[in-house]
Amino acid sequence: MKVIQCWIEHPARKIDQTFTYLCEENVTAGTRVEVEFNHRTVIGFVESAEETDLSREELEKKYGRRLFSVQKVLDSEPLITAELHDLALWMREATLSATISCFQAMLPAKIKPHTGKHRIVMEKWAEITDQEASLTPKQADAFAWLAQAGTVPYAELRKRFPNQAAQLVKKGVIRIFEKERTAQSMEREIRSPEKKLSAEQQAAMDEITSGTDDVYLIKGVTGSGKTEVYLQLAARALKQNKQVLFLVPEIGLTPQMIDRVSSRFGEDLAIYHSGLNPQEKYEQYRKVRSGRTSIVVGTRSAVFLPFTDLGLIVMDEEHDASYKQENDPAYHCRDIAVWRSRYHHCKLILGSATPSLESYARALKNVYHLIRMDERFNHSVPEIHIAEMRKEADPESGGILSRTLKEKIRERLDHKEQCILLLNRRGYHTMLRCRSCNEVLVCPHCDIAMSWHRDIRRMKCHTCGTEFPVPDTCPACGAKEGFTTFGVGTEKLESCLAELFPDARILRMDRDTTARKNGHAGILEAFGRHEADILVGTQMIAKGLDYPDVTLVGIINGDEGLNRYDFRSCETAFDLLMQASGRSGRAEKTGEVIIQVMDPEHYAVQCAVKQDYDSFYKHEMRFRHAGQYPPYTYMIAVTLSGRNEDRVVREALSLKQALMDESYKTIGVISLLKIRDLSRMRIIMKGKNLDHMRNRLKNVLENTEIREKIRIDVNPMNLE
Ligand code: ADP
Ligand code: ZN
Repeated sequence: MKVIQCWIEHPARKIDQTFTYLCEENVTAGTRVEVEFNHRTVIGFVESAEETDLSREELEKKYGRRLFSVQKVLDSEPLITAELHDLALWMREATLSATISCFQAMLPAKIKPHTGKHRIVMEKWAEITDQEASLTPKQADAFAWLAQAGTVPYAELRKRFPNQAAQLVKKGVIRIFEKERTAQSMEREIRSPEKKLSAEQQAAMDEITSGTDDVYLIKGVTGSGKTEVYLQLAARALKQNKQVLFLVPEIGLTPQMIDRVSSRFGEDLAIYHSGLNPQEKYEQYRKVRSGRTSIVVGTRSAVFLPFTDLGLIVMDEEHDASYKQENDPAYHCRDIAVWRSRYHHCKLILGSATPSLESYARALKNVYHLIRMDERFNHSVPEIHIAEMRKEADPESGGILSRTLKEKIRERLDHKEQCILLLNRRGYHTMLRCRSCNEVLVCPHCDIAMSWHRDIRRMKCHTCGTEFPVPDTCPACGAKEGFTTFGVGTEKLESCLAELFPDARILRMDRDTTARKNGHAGILEAFGRHEADILVGTQMIAKGLDYPDVTLVGIINGDEGLNRYDFRSCETAFDLLMQASGRSGRAEKTGEVIIQVMDPEHYAVQCAVKQDYDSFYKHEMRFRHAGQYPPYTYMIAVTLSGRNEDRVVREALSLKQALMDESYKTIGVISLLKIRDLSRMRIIMKGKNLDHMRNRLKNVLENTEIREKIRIDVNPMNLE
């Protein structure tokens, strides 16, 4: 008999401990078991299993209570490698989350250790047996083919030999068995051989390959050829039979990276991102686990795949906020990548044209090895103009476009070149306002304005998804005078363009048009084939896209986001302007960028026009220093939420009391916007010693009774 310790999912944060069970079967650490907990059957995750000679009675005496037996052992081999186990325990301390949630974050949904059950999809396979039987000539052909092929999916055999397959099974010369369905392999031919590196690329390459540091930050302007450097570094790692992980921030960027990687190496890659369904994720996970591929391209969660021998991790667009997980455990992909690169003694390459202030500050202090790539590969810098909307708004477009942008779009259409127009808001008219009381129509479950979507003729809440038709009466004052619309969304921009330029072919890319499976890839491929002249979209089109025919980028609301409360808002807005500008003039043709703004004097706008990251960095760091914001300090955000507002406030206030300390600031309690009917109160701890703040918070939480839901975010990226 074995005594096992296992983690189980438990809503109370305080009970982050293992529970003891007995097991008669063979079971090892890292596997899942079904156990009884509080009269329910739940899935547990085995931390340790020890053989014992003691009897059940003796053990119960030793532990001082009744011990249950494991009901079922679910896995024959561990799901979590020793490395990932250590990583989970580290992550728990770093993010102050429950151990079980760290394991869950690492595993595809199909095999997450939680209470729900997912079925693994099985597939029928066929192979020959030793039995003999008399066969017709055609059956003999089929038999010979299978004998040659070994084991094949039964469906394939049936396709080749539709009339013989079943007969052969009946005669017993072929056996059918079930196997987990695995991912289709997709090898491609090598279409893009290694390029000869420019002097700057070669210098970067040499510095990295001969360097002894583990983390490198390539600060390279868009078009400086960072990706080529990544690919050649990857080639070296693959040659040493090691694995390579390419991380991209958003699913929208995976098709391009997949294409560049697979057309270079021709090898079958694993692809891992949120657009896959649970079965597909599981298949990709198995592909890595079983060593059937050594190259992975994926978003955030790909950083947890069960690699055995990593030779290189590349994290492209390292500044991007999508690398941060907002839910529990609120980890940052970069921290996990750093941890894994240390474990595997491999190099981590962070790349960006606009590194996060944190990373750049680290690089300037030599914590990361800084490499600059300042020359654009095609040696052309886009011409960037500002259109001040107060003076330039074009009435014909309803004030959405400036006169300059309108003219330039016309020019591009006449020259058969392409444009990208960025508007960081989806929907049609963004909002509705009552004609009588002037109140904005807000979501009944969130304190957030509803957006009007013309294609479905309904109002939609972008936070909780609530939808309804435009109401007859104003929910605020009861008047029946109807609503006025204001604001512009991507959908409205699209229809405005269609009116102004009837000859233009327009594609729109936002969360509404990409919701379908492979929606991203479909739109981008069509645009890449020049099946459209204008691509309209939200921030998802600003990043990383590389189309040679795009010579104009228009940013409709260039200073949106500059005046938010979040201390990071200028950095985010600046990044977006820089990234979007980088989409123009990627090949021989020179590109132009028009940034439409209300306030042309803002330093983020000015620095973006000059494409001057370093000035922005200096300016922004002065602001961060003055306010003692990161990277000068660390923050931990603690948010309590619940339906009973009074109780949430009360608990937040007493938590704040308990947290007060001389060595850091305790800011709040701040009341956040209600979402999904939940009142939310936030406290921020801000100080220089992160470990101390973390320990203090952990200690306080262990010793205070808190009934409301609590969310902890160490180094938050998004403070709304
Ligand atoms: P980044 O990733 O820095 O934005 P890319 O790697 O996408 O830049 O390179 C920009 C363009 O220059 C691409 O079209 C790429 O194919 C081309 N390019 C990069 N390196 C080379 C090279 N050594 N020789 C020829 N073309 C190159
Ligand atoms: Zn809502």
